[in-house]
Amino acid sequence: MSIRFEIIKECKKTNARLGKLYTSHGIIDTPVFMPVGTQATVKAMTPRELEDLGIQIILSNSYHLFLRPGYNLIAQAGGLHKFMGWKGAILTDSGGFQVFSLGKLNKINDEGVSFNSHIDGSKHFINPEKAMEIQMALGSDIAMAFDECTSYPAGKYQVETAARRTIQWAKRCKEAHHSTSQSLFGIVQGGGYKDLRIENAKKLIELDFPGYAIGGLSVGEPKSLMNEILDCTVPCLPNSKPRYLMGVGAPQSILEGTIRGIDMFDCVLPTRNARNGSLLTSSGKLSITNAKFKDDFSPLDSKCKCYTCRNFTRAYLRHLYISNEILASTLGTIHNLFFMSSLAKNIRLALAEERLLEFKEEFLSKYF
Ligand SMILES: [Zn+2]
Repeated sequence: MSIRFEIIKECKKTNARLGKLYTSHGIIDTPVFMPVGTQATVKAMTPRELEDLGIQIILSNSYHLFLRPGYNLIAQAGGLHKFMGWKGAILTDSGGFQVFSLGKLNKINDEGVSFNSHIDGSKHFINPEKAMEIQMALGSDIAMAFDECTSYPAGKYQVETAARRTIQWAKRCKEAHHSTSQSLFGIVQGGGYKDLRIENAKKLIELDFPGYAIGGLSVGEPKSLMNEILDCTVPCLPNSKPRYLMGVGAPQSILEGTIRGIDMFDCVLPTRNARNGSLLTSSGKLSITNAKFKDDFSPLDSKCKCYTCRNFTRAYLRHLYISNEILASTLGTIHNLFFMSSLAKNIRLALAEERLLEFKEEFLSKYF
């Protein structure tokens, strides 16, 4: 089945909403934070650990899976869910962002993008039709349209060209996409220019997608600009469809996005930082390798109820990181993902109890 989105409650003081996203791989409570599983794995986690953390949806990257092991192999294995042993929902990105950020670009025109692999330099070509073929073969629950991202800062002409191309490509994606079990989301581009964002959103909704993403943010622009872009873009999107803010996952940005009407977030940082010993706690970020934790036998975060905090001390965790033990990544990731899913859960609870702004203030006062 394709997805269905239900709004349970709308906040009276902000644009936030509490919702449920129904997929053929389970129900997703929104607002939701989606962990990133780039190579068909959320690094250091087994799918069972993700389930235990209450994760309902993960994101995987088409670009990486296209290059290795190849989408035909994953299709042969019975699709991405089966291949990686994950029973929950999966959202795949189109590869657009990675082609532009990782690939060595050869040529980009209205037809598509040719690039060299960042792994072995081999030549490849992706266009909207190919991006749909890849994602349909992967069999994710939600596929993303192939878009052109611009970096920040970028000149208006360049951003305008990319935004126009993104709409043309969105049309082609829609025509090429034929799957009854997968839903295709459109992506709004337009960089840091409010007029381009509004124009782009309006053109995109004419194509009538079952969900909309806002792309090209959190690419180095000031936080205040991201909020301004959301303030002008989100109201252009239909209320009844899910809204996804791509690549954004800092706790404060999730709160800011939620109050502006965003339902879905993803970010590689909570998992990547966990592997580097940067851990999220209720009083802010903590670098566990710091010498001051050498003989600190208290839990990482005394307020956290995750497996790591219930069973291990800061001194032990520090030892694992300093010794480059594999377990360090696993325990750190369990904690950071628990922190992120608890944040989303607490946001949903606050929304249900009509105290979202109070929750935001309380959370941020302790977090910094
Ligand atoms: Zn914890």
